[in-house]
Amino acid sequence: MDDAKAGNGAAAEAQALVDLLTPIVKAWPSDYALEANSIAIQVHGGAGYTRDFPVERLWRENRINAIHEGTNGIQAMDLLGRKLLADQGKAFALLSARVQATCSAAAQHPQLNMLAENLGMRWQRLAPAIGAAGSAARSDMTLALANAYLLLDAMGHAVVAWLWLDQAVCALTALQGTPAQTPRSKLLHGKLAAAKYFIEWELPSKDAQLARFAAMDPLCRDIDAEIL
Ligand SMILES: Cc1cc2nc3c(=O)[nH]c(=O)nc-3n(C[C@H](O)[C@H](O)[C@H](O)COP(=O)(O)OP(=O)(O)OC[C@H]3O[C@@H](n4cnc5c(N)ncnc54)[C@H](O)[C@@H]3O)c2cc1C
Repeated sequence: MDDAKAGNGAAAEAQALVDLLTPIVKAWPSDYALEANSIAIQVHGGAGYTRDFPVERLWRENRINAIHEGTNGIQAMDLLGRKLLADQGKAFALLSARVQATCSAAAQHPQLNMLAENLGMRWQRLAPAIGAAGSAARSDMTLALANAYLLLDAMGHAVVAWLWLDQAVCALTALQGTPAQTPRSKLLHGKLAAAKYFIEWELPSKDAQLARFAAMDPLCRDIDAEIL
């Protein structure tokens, strides 16, 4: 946002990225911070469910974040309809170039090579899925948008994986000058472990969702409310 206001040559590009990423920045944390709150309740067992600790209150209070400031369902339609399809993929191309640059930087490190490959492969699947929505939109816009939430969720995971890979590159570089077993070294190793966990465990969990989105399945849109 600072770059978009700076008024230099990169301002338009920065604004396009802000516009594209806004629905993800709003929706992803409101879905997954809530999931973290839920896991925190589980970790505490029965004491997490009661009011002995503040974790149930955090879950209850954070539940609003997927609803207000534009429900996440509306954010999903904004991402697909206005940010991806309406500008013919220009902002997506800018973001893809940044993701690719991070993957190239990570691939230089043997420890991060597989993570870069993992993210790069999954990022490449987004464009054909968005293209399927673009094709559907030419004849049936409601079908194109019907399962937009699946794309928001899968792309949100890919964006967060990109941010973790970027942090992993920084952490690995910083570790070179950091004495072992110091708090800073532990922090940097923690970043590397979190990046590996997210990219190897969480990111692939959205593969089926992205495939379902790309199929442009009308089932949920067309199901007759009378038969439910
Ligand atoms: C605690 C709290 C504080 C709030 N504070 C404020 C405030 O300070 N200022 C303010 O202006 N508002 C505030 N709100 C209102 C909030 O912005 C709205 O609740 C929110 O925008 C959702 O609108 P809605 O409740 O009418 O739900 P609806 O719009 O009826 O949505 C219900 C469901 O239908 C989905 N949906 C809606 N339209 C479509 C569509 N066209 N296609 C597919 N799905 C659709 C939504 O995604 C959602 O899942 C607050 C709400 C709460 C609960």
